[in-house]
Amino acid sequence: MRILDIRERSLPISRYAGPAPAGGLTTSVVAIRIDTGGSGQPITGYGYASVGRYAQGGLIRERFAPRLLKAADGLVGEDGGLDPFKAWQAMMAGEKSGGHGERCVAVGALDMALWDAAAKAAGLPLHAFLSRRLGTTPLPASKVRVYASGGYPYPRDDLASLAQEMRCFADLGFRHAKMKIGSAGLDQDLRRIEAALTAWGAADHLAVDAMNAYGPAEGLEATARLSPLGLWWFEDICDPLDFETQSTLSSAYAPPIGAGEALFSAAEAKLLARHGGLRPERDVLLFDPVHCYGLPGYLEILDTMTAAGWTRQAFWPHGGHLFGLHLAAALGLGGAEVTPFAFDPFRGLADVTVIADGYASLPQAPGIGFETNAALRRLFEEIAG
Ligand code: MG
Repeated sequence: MRILDIRERSLPISRYAGPAPAGGLTTSVVAIRIDTGGSGQPITGYGYASVGRYAQGGLIRERFAPRLLKAADGLVGEDGGLDPFKAWQAMMAGEKSGGHGERCVAVGALDMALWDAAAKAAGLPLHAFLSRRLGTTPLPASKVRVYASGGYPYPRDDLASLAQEMRCFADLGFRHAKMKIGSAGLDQDLRRIEAALTAWGAADHLAVDAMNAYGPAEGLEATARLSPLGLWWFEDICDPLDFETQSTLSSAYAPPIGAGEALFSAAEAKLLARHGGLRPERDVLLFDPVHCYGLPGYLEILDTMTAAGWTRQAFWPHGGHLFGLHLAAALGLGGAEVTPFAFDPFRGLADVTVIADGYASLPQAPGIGFETNAALRRLFEEIAG
């Protein structure tokens, strides 16, 4: 078993079903080809840098891919296959604590592809491979609780389009959804929430995400005005590292709060647990495993937060990717995000995914199962050459 080569490309992604606008969001897509030994064909693992943080091409090309290739012959696990934990150690060699910047995203994209390759080599879907590798019991869930994420402001007919999007989520089989607020002023945000609820129904099945927009005063006004609605959760209210404001807002807002999406390490998670004022029995943790140095980093965060009194059910990984769906099943997490329309071409899950009554089925193909989504299969195969 050895890594043969690593390919990487930056790709524009769209918050809507249409084409990505120039100068908009990007992500890194990677393909890692491994020789499994014997007479078999090489296997290619695919990964990408989730959504929301821009592409990491320079870091991947200049720093992390060369370290993996340098260690290519020494990454064999006890089972004779590729050991993604050893690969992770090779990528992180010489990295100092702190100063995560966005190197954590570059490592996470490569880590996703390594797990895809390792599970493919073992002939198992990732959730089953992880369950065996990590020794998790009970066996992974056969379906995962999910919610539909979207509700970005529309350039035209915003309220009517938002209501229509919510109706589509319900028609697709979702029972929980999340929409964006924070960019248009609170009066308009409340009009948008009202429009969404007219189509969606239950406020306790609708979360809102302010994308870290509010300072202390605006945050207090927002928590006061949203509190009576009894929403499913109120996400990313203030700056992710402003724990003083987070703590003040946690005291002021009784319904559930979501946090952690823009924190990237166990050390940062520990600060959130100690100083964020969050309530483990009620609140929701949104760490994105891809943005947190991949699965090894995410497992450290799980350990940190469970030691601070949280359960795994509080974790709802950000990103809307199949990787998060497999992790939710294998690790017994609360559920996973799905973006049915946003972040094209990474919207949705697999073509074979069934969403019913708020639960998603898991792809049973070996690996993560990107190949079960026709658009992603074309994209990844083109990048792999
Ligand atoms: Mg968010």
